[in-house]
Amino acid sequence: MNNLEALYRQVIMDHYKNPRNKGLVNDEKYKTVHIKNPSCGDDITIQSLIDNGSIKDVRHEGTGCSICCSSASVLSETLIGKTVVEANQITQTYLNMLSNKEYDEEVELEDAIAYQGVRKFPARVKCASISWKAFEETLKEE
Ligand code: ZN
Repeated sequence: MNNLEALYRQVIMDHYKNPRNKGLVNDEKYKTVHIKNPSCGDDITIQSLIDNGSIKDVRHEGTGCSICCSSASVLSETLIGKTVVEANQITQTYLNMLSNKEYDEEVELEDAIAYQGVRKFPARVKCASISWKAFEETLKEE
């Protein structure tokens, strides 16, 4: 493992052990999307609060592997405060990076870049993407 991989691993374990913005809220202003990944038991719910074209809040709850649970936390921390346009761009870039498609390396992924190595493990790509796909769905409901 090189230094960068070690650093990325640290980011992922930190978010797994100390998840940010965890716990759902009972507020109809939030959009809620639930996704399951039967292949590894991941079960994630994402909520987003959008106001005036910006992501005001993201909440998550669920159970699953470290990749899945930590990525929900990273997602929330990365996207809160972004505009909907920026959040969409970051989400697309992240999902393209994971699925080995072309992606814009100029887009600042913040801690989400830590999942770059996951693309080498096709079985884990779904784990790292489901919370982001759920988030994407919450935007579509707008
Ligand atoms: Zn998983």
